[in-house]
Amino acid sequence: MSRFSNRKTEKIMNQLINYLSWSEQRSKLFYTCPKQYGYRFIESWEGWLPTATKSAQDAYYHNCLVSDLRLVTGNIVHDRCGRVLKRLVGGITSDPATEIAIAEADFDNFLSNSAKLPLTALGSKRKKLIAHLIGKVVPPTLIASERASIPVMMEQFFALPEIALFAAHPELMLREFIEAEIGPPTNELGVPARLVTDCVYQQDDITWVLDWKTGRPHESHRDKGVVYDAYVRARLKLPPKSQLKIRFYYLKTGETADFEFAHEERQEALWRIGEDFFLLQQKSLDPVVNIAPLSSFPARVDTHCFNCTHRLICPEFKAAGFGVHTAASPNIWAIDARVQINLADEQKEIAS
Ligand code: SF4
Repeated sequence: MSRFSNRKTEKIMNQLINYLSWSEQRSKLFYTCPKQYGYRFIESWEGWLPTATKSAQDAYYHNCLVSDLRLVTGNIVHDRCGRVLKRLVGGITSDPATEIAIAEADFDNFLSNSAKLPLTALGSKRKKLIAHLIGKVVPPTLIASERASIPVMMEQFFALPEIALFAAHPELMLREFIEAEIGPPTNELGVPARLVTDCVYQQDDITWVLDWKTGRPHESHRDKGVVYDAYVRARLKLPPKSQLKIRFYYLKTGETADFEFAHEERQEALWRIGEDFFLLQQKSLDPVVNIAPLSSFPARVDTHCFNCTHRLICPEFKAAGFGVHTAASPNIWAIDARVQINLADEQKEIAS
């Protein structure tokens, strides 16, 4: 460990620590645009403090923006499912109609609060749609379809065979894995990783990892499954030959995907995430704490920028010619053919 690391470690005693870690999201962001990774996971750190630098506060507020309404729906559904399971562990069943009504109210509240919340009121729990910040209209058809997907997904969840099983045998569930983050300093496998498990239970000598998906099946989910396999095994100290199965439930479509991994596949996945982690670690000034100047993360401007909530503060994005100012529309910058941003409003919000 470097001298810097020791000094930093002393300084951060009793504070939150920005551990350097691997996660699917971190790795994906780093490969898509290193600068976005820098904004999201390093520059924004402690940006919630009034004493933080303006740059940290800006990065933090923009972390709290949401680029896609579907992410909001997914979070709400996950949150409700987690609460239902936590109650079930205590032997308390939930009424599906009530849970659906709460989830729908959460969605409505998010939309109305999002429109009004100023940038400075944002926090990790109080998020805002970037569309509301930049004055872009969220299509009513998207709002209607997302709201309509909530009862569909919640009903799917309540109809899962495991929910009836847990109602009869709540002791099968491992409470510490319900809607829970396995995060650093978890490094049983040599790579500190962060992942969130929805539910883990054990029955007849088989460990099951369940995951609710609010999107559609994708081939990358197999990669995700093998990482769950490796870390849940390590956390539970399961014997190498013990059986572990992964089941993904796609709540929107009613599809299911089951995975079981061989030792070699697990080792290969660990090698892959070890490589990813090594790249992130090379960028950090410290091998344990994630710290580096934003300038060491190059910007990669491309169409993915339109999913990046930091585009409002990213100089490279604005400098790359995406913004075209026209005399006919002095406040409107055509960011590209698909997106228009009222830059004046945007900057007013950022400054407020
Ligand atoms: S706007 Fe584009 S270039 Fe800038 S940080 Fe985001 S993804 Fe990277």
